[in-house]
Amino acid sequence: MSTDTDRDLEAELESPRAGQSGIPIDAVCTGCGRVRVKRAEPEEMGQHPQIDPMALEATDCTSFKHVCHPCGSATWWNPVAVLTGLIESDGDEDEPRA
Ligand SMILES: [Zn+2]
Repeated sequence: MSTDTDRDLEAELESPRAGQSGIPIDAVCTGCGRVRVKRAEPEEMGQHPQIDPMALEATDCTSFKHVCHPCGSATWWNPVAVLTGLIESDGDEDEPRA
């Protein structure tokens, strides 16, 4: 397998195929071997629901189920990397007003 250096991870994440909510995960389909960005909830990967995604390691995550379009069905995906660079930081909005 070649390494895709041309991948646009942000575009993959914004695709509806990545999923609606969850942590951005680079994952490999166990069915066809393709690597895609998927969103997965921590619980789906055997993690605590409130875990800090920034502290999450792909090696700690279990496989999770997600739709794979080339496979035509939901398959198991093995996490390759937690894409912490793509996690939206939305905790900065509630600064107290002076
Ligand atoms: Zn597949």
